[in-house]
Amino acid sequence: MRQIIIIGSGPAGFTAAIYAARAGLEPLLIASSVEAGGELMKTTEVENFPGFPEGIQGPDLMTKLQEQAEKFGTEVLLDDVTSVDFSGDVKKVSTGYSGDFEAPAVIFSTGSAYRKLGLEDEERLSGRGVSWCATCDGFFFKKKTIAVIGGGDSAMEEATFLTRFADKVYLIHRKDTLRASKIMQERAFANEKIEFVFNTAVVGINGENTVESLKLENTVTGERSELPVQGLFVAIGNDPRTHLVHGQLDLTTSGTIAVAGRSSKTNIAGVFAAGDVIDDTYRQAATAAASGTVAALDAEHYLAGLAEASAIAELREAEAEIELVESLQSTRS
Ligand code: NDP
Repeated sequence: MRQIIIIGSGPAGFTAAIYAARAGLEPLLIASSVEAGGELMKTTEVENFPGFPEGIQGPDLMTKLQEQAEKFGTEVLLDDVTSVDFSGDVKKVSTGYSGDFEAPAVIFSTGSAYRKLGLEDEERLSGRGVSWCATCDGFFFKKKTIAVIGGGDSAMEEATFLTRFADKVYLIHRKDTLRASKIMQERAFANEKIEFVFNTAVVGINGENTVESLKLENTVTGERSELPVQGLFVAIGNDPRTHLVHGQLDLTTSGTIAVAGRSSKTNIAGVFAAGDVIDDTYRQAATAAASGTVAALDAEHYLAGLAEASAIAELREAEAEIELVESLQSTRS
C-alpha cells in the first residue's frame, strides 16, 4: 500500500507531490496517459508564474515541476485513472493499464476540461477546422481566416498567438465587454490582424469536410449572418473534471469539488482536492500550485494523525497485555 496517491499532473498535482515527497511520503502521482502536464502543456508563454521574469513556455514549466517532484522521490505514472473508491479507510484508485493502487490518503487534482459550445457540427468538424488548442493546431491555419470565440484571457491569448499563422482572426464574443485582463485585451486590440465582433453568438458551423463558414446571431438584435472562415477556435472557459468522483465527493453549485474553508479537505476523511477542480474563480497556475501545497500539508497532517492514532492503539494493546500478565502472576502467587 502507498502512503499517498496524487491524481492529476498540473501545477496543483506536481506541487503537492513536491511537498509530499519532501515530507518523505513517497507519493505516487498518476498523470494522464495523453494529457500529462495539464492545460499548461497547451499554452505558450507563461508570463505570470513567479520566479520567471523572462517568462517561460508552459510545457517547460511543467517539465521543471515534474523534475522537481521526481528529485525528491515522487513516482510518476503515465496512465488514466478509470475509477476511484473512497468508501473505506483505505482508498482505492484503479487505472486503465497499471491495475489498482491503495493508500490512506488521496489528493484529487484533475483540473478542468475545455468547455464546448454544444453545437451539432462542433464534434463532427472537430480536428477538421474546429479546435480548442491554438498551440496544438495553429500551424495548420497558415494564411487562413479564422475565428476565436470567447471574451476571457484564453480567447485573447489564442487570438494573439494565432496571428502568427493566420492572415485574419475574428474574435467573436457574445457581449460587448470582455472578461479578459487589461493587459491581454490591450495586446489583442493593438494587433492589426484581429477584428473584434461583439454581441455575437455562433449558432452553427457550415462545412462538409472542413469548416467553411459560421452562422452568427446578434445577441442584441437577433439578426442572423454568415461569416466565411476556415477555422474556429473555441476558448470559452473550462469545466472542472469531476466525473470520477460523482456520488462520492460533494460538489459546489458551480460544479467544483467542495472543500472545507481554506483547506483542501473534502467531505471524505483522507481525500483532499486541489487546483482548478476546486476553483471557479482564480484558476491561475500560481494559485493551483498554492492549492497543491495546501493539499499536501493537509494530507501530511492527516497521515501523521493516523500514525499517532495507530501508535496509541498499539501502546494501549501493549499496556492491556502487561496488565493481563500481571494479574495472572498475582493470581498464581
Ligand atoms: P473565462 O471563464 O475567464 O472566460 C470565458 C469566456 O467565454 C467569457 O468571456 C464567457 O463569456 C465566454 N463564454 C462562456 N461560455 C460561452 C458560450 N457557451 N458561448 C459563448 N461564449 C461563452 O475562461 P478563460 O479560459 O478565458 O480563463 C480561465 C482562467 O484562466 C481565468 O482566470 C484567466 O484569467 C486564466 N487565464 C490566464 C491566462 C494568462 O494569464 N496568461 C491565459 C488564459 C487563461 P461571458 O464573459 O459573457 O461570461
